[in-house]
Amino acid sequence: MHDFHKGGCVCGQARFRTLGSPRRVSLCSCHWCRKRTGSVLGLSVYFDWELVIFTRGQLKTHRLNSDAGRWIKSQFCPECGSALSWTLEFLPRYRGLAGGAFDHPEFIYPERYVFSRSKPEWLEVANDISLCPNMAGPAKDVRDQS
Ligand SMILES: [Zn+2]
Ligand SMILES: [Zn+2]
Repeated sequence: MHDFHKGGCVCGQARFRTLGSPRRVSLCSCHWCRKRTGSVLGLSVYFDWELVIFTRGQLKTHRLNSDAGRWIKSQFCPECGSALSWTLEFLPRYRGLAGGAFDHPEFIYPERYVFSRSKPEWLEVANDISLCPNMAGPAKDVRDQS
């Protein structure tokens, strides 16, 4: 039951800890994920909001609109600029964490690839990762695993 995962930003100023298993794990090639990562896709790991605890450091918040026109509250380290965490209007009960920010990301396996319409042609993903050309469907409830 003590399923902890830890992570933090590049400079180590901000550190977090999660409890339990992620509710949702997605790859995403939306405009925001490409910009925040500086890469072709982001790895988004969502936990119940209250099961993510920032154990150290300060975060700065930036609010923006998603490709689907809803708000994203993005939080990053003001020292090194690492994008660490976010909350979506679309999934307000969950808190997203950047998959690459975990110290040991081996437990993370994506279920879906959203905004896959922007997937580069040279990138192949495993057959059990469902491709959603646009955004994913809404969470059914807090136990949603879909
Ligand atoms: Zn930092
Ligand atoms: Zn995205």
